[in-house]
Amino acid sequence: MINLKDKTALVTGGSQGIGKAIALILAKAGADIVIWDVNLEKANEIVKEIEKLGRKASAYKVDVSNSNNVNNTAGEVLKEHQKIDILVNNAGITKDMLLMKLSEESWDAVININLKGTFLVTKAFLRQFLKLKSGKIINISSVVGLSGNAGQTNYSASKAGIVGFTQSVAKEVGTRNINVNAIAPGFIETEMSDAIPEKAKDTFIEKIPLRKAGSVDDVANTVLFLSSSLSDYITGQVIVVDGGMLID
Ligand code: NAD
Repeated sequence: MINLKDKTALVTGGSQGIGKAIALILAKAGADIVIWDVNLEKANEIVKEIEKLGRKASAYKVDVSNSNNVNNTAGEVLKEHQKIDILVNNAGITKDMLLMKLSEESWDAVININLKGTFLVTKAFLRQFLKLKSGKIINISSVVGLSGNAGQTNYSASKAGIVGFTQSVAKEVGTRNINVNAIAPGFIETEMSDAIPEKAKDTFIEKIPLRKAGSVDDVANTVLFLSSSLSDYITGQVIVVDGGMLID
């Protein structure tokens, strides 16, 4: 039912985990794909998988927190692909530590990649979205951006910032038919969550009404919906994909 033929999607952090699942699901729906990641080798492997699906795909080595790198590569992408219809700001990192011990470097790294990166990449493509008079911008936040989490002040602040950013951009560009939404995943099994000790994982799962961790496809399916015309009247929203964890 969802057909993204003739659409091009850019996914940051698309070489593994949730970003990889997003890139693949959008390609399966017919979109051409651009991956931005610091890990070009892995990103190129995803490109090969997408090309096997018969879609055009390309990967670029980009650090989303570096404005020169973002702006220069945005220019290259628009030369190669002409337009970006769907932008998924997914690249993100954690550097967890209780606030008493959290270093300024860990604060800056997380804010710069997660929040500033979302700002830089969105801004780099905003002019072309305004010209297109259409577009879907999807920012990956987190439930901890809505609820907070001990040991994640930097990460929670970056993800809460993404919510405010999403709502504000939605208000700025709504008249140009551009939808801007966020997704707040809960506990999703990926390389990132592999770092969580098994015991802590079990404690998380006990608090989830659906009693299981989410999969990368649970998040990717929501991105697919927000990328499609099925969500044309939805903007400035945060869709929580957490098995009900936050209602507890
Ligand atoms: P991951 O670590 O598996 O993948 C993150 C990707 O981002 C990697 O490919 C990495 O190379 C890339 N990346 C890191 N820094 C970058 C930079 N400076 N520039 C460009 N690319 C960069 O993580 P994931 O679990 O797939 O998470 C994806 C997104 O979902 C993140 O924003 C994360 O905060 C969010 N999220 C994840 C969970 C979860 O449970 N896994 C929950 C909520 C939100």
